[in-house]
Amino acid sequence: MSDRTKKLGAYDKEFVWHPFTQMKEYEEKSPVVIEGGEGAYLIDSEGNKYIDGVSSLWVNIHGHKVPEIDNAIKDQVDKLSHSTLLGVTNPPAAELAKDLIEICPEGLKKVFYSGDGASAVEVALKMAFQYWKQKDKPEKVKFVCLGNGYHGDTLGAVSVGGIDLFHSTFKPLLFESFQAPSYYCYRCPLNKEYPSCDIACATELDKILSEHNDEIAAVILEPYVQAAGGMIVSPEGYLKKVRESCDKYDVLLILDEVATGFGRTGKMFACEHEDVTPDMLVLGKGLTGGYLPLSATITTQEVYDAFLGDYEEFKTFFHGHSYAGNPVSCAASMGNLKAFENYNTLHELQDKVQFLEDELKEFGGLKHVGDVRNKGAMVGIELVQDKETKEPYAPELKMGWKVADLAMEDGVLLRPLGNVVVLMPPVGIPMEDLKKLVHVTYSSIKKATEGS
Ligand SMILES: *Cc1c(COP(=O)(O)O)cnc(C)c1O
Repeated sequence: MSDRTKKLGAYDKEFVWHPFTQMKEYEEKSPVVIEGGEGAYLIDSEGNKYIDGVSSLWVNIHGHKVPEIDNAIKDQVDKLSHSTLLGVTNPPAAELAKDLIEICPEGLKKVFYSGDGASAVEVALKMAFQYWKQKDKPEKVKFVCLGNGYHGDTLGAVSVGGIDLFHSTFKPLLFESFQAPSYYCYRCPLNKEYPSCDIACATELDKILSEHNDEIAAVILEPYVQAAGGMIVSPEGYLKKVRESCDKYDVLLILDEVATGFGRTGKMFACEHEDVTPDMLVLGKGLTGGYLPLSATITTQEVYDAFLGDYEEFKTFFHGHSYAGNPVSCAASMGNLKAFENYNTLHELQDKVQFLEDELKEFGGLKHVGDVRNKGAMVGIELVQDKETKEPYAPELKMGWKVADLAMEDGVLLRPLGNVVVLMPPVGIPMEDLKKLVHVTYSSIKKATEGS
């Protein structure tokens, strides 16, 4: 190891506290220092190359060093790096909003910018709450969320979260929400089987709305894939049913596409698979192609209009973040949209998804693979101790991490979710890199779970 890597590792261990990381364990290892990127690859300070198998935690879309995005950022920095969006605007913020409305599901009209996914979720929750107040239904103050749902780590987002491991510690700080069952078919919380269940989890959600709609502001969920919950994929028809329930009971539908947006599921947005338009669409992560922080809460004219009034009525949405609509982030995002066009990304993706689905069938034959699920290029491979009983591996075995550590030796960077091995490559990953990713993952799972 070079002296430089050693020095950086020492600084890191002495001064940095890493997110979602047990630092006691981290301190025992020598940190990997990622300092370069090229296409679907990341390069560490020792010159090792790794396939970016989870898109740098689900953000990267077209790979690293994408000319369209690189140049957009450089050009913008030469003009202006930041100015506020409170009461004034900047060119990339205005142009990007127009471009986003063009690609968003029909009916979405207004873009509210924030920085991170969690902030955009907070915006959606507060907007929904204030919307009903201004529609003279101030008793509609509660939210319906899903078990296994994840919407970020700020307190509002955690209040509508459904992952006990991340969320239960903070319970005393949270507001109460209604929780509908997760659409987790492999371990159905209702003990039913698809398709004979007739999507009973959506019926349960409908029941909550039928009984409590007078106090419910909105339903919030991740369409098609509960990502952080373990890459859980919903059955077809679920989303449409939820939209119908929301319409029937006059409840807003917030779709959090922070993870699923920008091609991940095979279409630009996951809700397009069922022609559903939400009342609010939350975007983040892939919005800038994985370059810079930027998020958006995109809503309908109907929601927007409820906030219009004379100054002294104070119907204003009193919420904003310092870097909202940052011009460099917005320029990066426009570069990302341009790359979608230039590389015909969504079209090119279809063959890769087909390849993935064919290959994933092989994984199902492995002795300790209980469930293999995907929507587009979002993949979850759930490892189990016992396939018959679906008994999970004990946490102390860290089976997901064993797989990731082996994959790293073969030049693939993964980050599992417990016992679920996650594949979420850049949407624009070249076919040959995708092949390597899949093959290394297969042999790593086999080696970790079967010993060879
Ligand atoms: C990652 C994620 C968030 C939070 O985004 P941050 O930018 O990490 O705050 C919210 N919702 C979903 C579905 C996510 O996957």
